[in-house]
Amino acid sequence: MSNVLDHYHFLHEIPELGFEEFKTSAYIADQLERAGLKVTRNINGTTGIVAEIDSGAPGPVLALRADMDALGHIIDGQPCARHTCGHDGHSSVVLTAAQELLEEGTVKKGRLKLLFQPAEELGAGALAMVEGGALDDVEMILGFHLRPLEECQVGQAVPAVYYSACSTLEATIKGAPAHAARPHLGVNALDAAVQAVQAVNTIHLAPGLSWSVKATRFLCDAGVTNSVPDEARVVWDLRSQENAPMTLLKEKVTQAILHSVAAVGATAEVVVLKEMPAAEIHDDATEIIRAAITEVLGESGLTAAKTTPGSEDFFYYPVKRPAVKAGFWGLGTNLVPGLHHPDMHFDIHSLAIGVNIFKACVRRVLG
Ligand SMILES: [Zn+2]
Ligand SMILES: [Zn+2]
Repeated sequence: MSNVLDHYHFLHEIPELGFEEFKTSAYIADQLERAGLKVTRNINGTTGIVAEIDSGAPGPVLALRADMDALGHIIDGQPCARHTCGHDGHSSVVLTAAQELLEEGTVKKGRLKLLFQPAEELGAGALAMVEGGALDDVEMILGFHLRPLEECQVGQAVPAVYYSACSTLEATIKGAPAHAARPHLGVNALDAAVQAVQAVNTIHLAPGLSWSVKATRFLCDAGVTNSVPDEARVVWDLRSQENAPMTLLKEKVTQAILHSVAAVGATAEVVVLKEMPAAEIHDDATEIIRAAITEVLGESGLTAAKTTPGSEDFFYYPVKRPAVKAGFWGLGTNLVPGLHHPDMHFDIHSLAIGVNIFKACVRRVLG
C-alpha cells in the first residue's frame, strides 16, 4: 500500500486548476476503491469525491475534508498550475488516513465519510459539495491546512484556525465618450473610478471590529489617449474577521461606489466575483482535535488557537448546514516563504503527522 509521501509526490506532479482536477480526482478515487472503500465520483457534476467507511453499527457520521485544486500562476511569463497552497498535501493526508483506518478496522460505530472537494481557491468547491448532498447525513466535519512557519513549526499543530470572511467586489463604471478636446460633452469614467476608490477609502466600521477594504485592480483604457474614456473597472478586496460585519461592509462599499460615481454623472454596476464566509467552529470539534494533537505530539505540540485574515471555503459547510459541527486545525510544516508564493515549500515529512492526527480524531469519534 502506498504511503502518504508516495501519494504526495504523485499529486504534486499533476497540479490542476479548480473544477479541472480530472487526473487528481481519478487518482484519489482509484486509490480509495483499490483499498476497498465505497466511492462516489463526480459529486454534483464536478470532480468532487465522497468515499465512505461504514462500520455497520449505529453511531455518528463524521466527515474528513480535503481540497484538491492548485493555483494558476504566471511564472517566467507562462501561465501554469502549481500546488502553492498545499492542497496536494491535504489530499495525500486524508487519502492515507482513509486507507489506514480501513486497514486497521478503526471505524467500529457509525460511518466515516471522506470528502475530496474541487475548487477551494475559487470559493466554489465546498458549495458544490454541499449542493450535491455530500453533507446531508453528516454530524461533524473536520478539515485542516498546512500552516506557514511563523504560525507553527513541525512538531506543533493548531487546534482551531479562525479564518476571516472575504469578498471580492467589481464595479463596472459607465461614463460617456467624447473627444478629449471637448470633455464637457462626455463623462470621464476614469475620473468616476478615482472618486469611487477615494470614497471607499473613507468608510469606517466600529473600531473594535477587525476588517479591511482596499482597491486591488483598476482597469481603464479607451484605446486612445485623446478621447474621454467611457468605461472603467475597479476591484476591491474586503475582509472581516466575523460574518455579520461583512454584510454591513459590502453594503457600505456598494453605496460609496454608486453615490461617488453618480456625483460626476457616471453609473456603476457592482457584482460579487467571489466570497467566502468567516470561520464557524464548534467547540465539540475543537475539543476532539485538541485531544488528538496532544495524543500524537504531546502537550508541547499543542499551540493556542489562531486567527488569520486569510479565507477558506471550508466554512461554507457549517454556514450552509448549521447543524453540522465543524472543526478546522492547522499542521506545523515549516512552510516558507508563504502560502500562494510561487516557490512555496515545506517539510513533507510533517504529512505523516497529519495522518496520525486525523486518525486519532476518528478513533475518538468512531472507535
Ligand atoms: Zn490558498
Ligand atoms: Zn488552501
